[in-house]
Order: sequence, then structure tokens, then C-alpha cells
Amino acid sequence: MYLKSLTLKGFKSFAARTHMVFDPGLSVVVGPNGSGKSNVSDAILWVLGEQSAKQLRGQAMEDVIFSGSSARGPAGLAEVTLVLDNSDGTLPVDFEEVGVTRRMYRSGESEYLINGAPARLMDVQDILHDSGLGKETHSIISQGKLDAVLQAKPEQRRELIEEAAGISKHRRRKERAARK
Ligand code: ATP
Ligand code: MG
Repeated sequence: MYLKSLTLKGFKSFAARTHMVFDPGLSVVVGPNGSGKSNVSDAILWVLGEQSAKQLRGQAMEDVIFSGSSARGPAGLAEVTLVLDNSDGTLPVDFEEVGVTRRMYRSGESEYLINGAPARLMDVQDILHDSGLGKETHSIISQGKLDAVLQAKPEQRRELIEEAAGISKHRRRKERAARK
């Protein structure tokens, strides 16, 4: 599984529809300070269901909607679509490509789509669960998190490595089984 494309419209500094295509392997986003690099990773977090404005470096969730510039009025909604290549069947669905869309209006109303069909946040989370892409899987490491890793105690660092290596979910299952 890999990130195939990301489309932003009205999300943070991306007022106009912006479509980014990624190849398998390593991709690097470069640009001057303030050009929107972190907004790209915020968009990935957001479309995957992030509920905390603070994690998205904002005060309120509405801060993800393009607020306007001298050249352009504010957007009425933010929309992000992320497409994952699932030809290796990592995700438990019968689709070669899985597109997840999140929209949010100024009214605060939010909606999710999976391959264009209306879905619940729970459906999105269910599909991503165990793929290493869901919440709390360290698939996105913010600048502040990096400091936390460097300053962590050895035991905490071990937990992070186990989580990243996908070992901790097996340990959680083992612990759950042992309790029964
Ligand atoms: P750095 O190299 O400093 O980390 P960066 O490329 O990561 O910079 P970002 O933090 O992604 O930059 O982008 C910051 C820019 O996004 C700021 O200019 C900010 O005004 C703009 N921005 C954030 N939210 C919105 C919004 N809702 N509407 C319009 N612009 C926004
Ligand atoms: Mg940044």
C-alpha cells in the first residue's frame, strides 16, 4: 500500500484545487518557510479523521478552511481527498484504490466519503485500522514529536519503536487473550 495522490481544495493555504501525485518509495516536499509544507501533512492527518484542532496547529477546527487573502475571498468549505494504492490488498476492502474524502463547511458540518460514497468516520477508521496508517500509529511525526523522541527515556523510546515496527498490536492482543 502507498499514498498515490492527495487533492486539496480550500484547505489552509491551498485555496485553489491542488492535486499531488506520489510514486511508490520516498517522496520529499520542499519549499520556502511558510509555503505550506506542513499544511500538506496536516491535510493527511485531517482526512484520516483528526479531531483535534491543536494537532492541526490551529485554535478551532474551522481554521483548516482557507481564510482568504488579498487576492481571494475565504473558502466556504475545505475538502481533502487521499488516494491509497491497495493493489497489494493491505486494506481489508475489495478495491485496488481506496479514496478517502473529508469535507468541512463553515457551519462545522463535516462529511466523509470512501471511493465517493458517503461514509462515517468509523468506516474510515475501520478500513485503516491495523494498516499502520490510523491514529496514534506514528505515521506522521510532527516537529515537536521529534524533540519528544530525542528526550524520551529508554523505555518510552522502546515503546515507540515497537509501535512503529507493528509489534505492540500483537502484544496488546496477547495481553487481551491472556485476560480471557
Ligand atoms: P516551515 O518551513 O516554516 O515549516 P511550511 O512550509 O511548513 O513552513 P506551513 O506551516 O505549512 O508552512 O504554512 C503556513 C502558511 O499557511 C502560513 O502562511 C499561514 O498563513 C497559511 N495558512 C494556515 N492556515 C490557513 C488558512 N486557514 N487560510 C489561509 N492560509 C492559511
Ligand atoms: Mg513546516
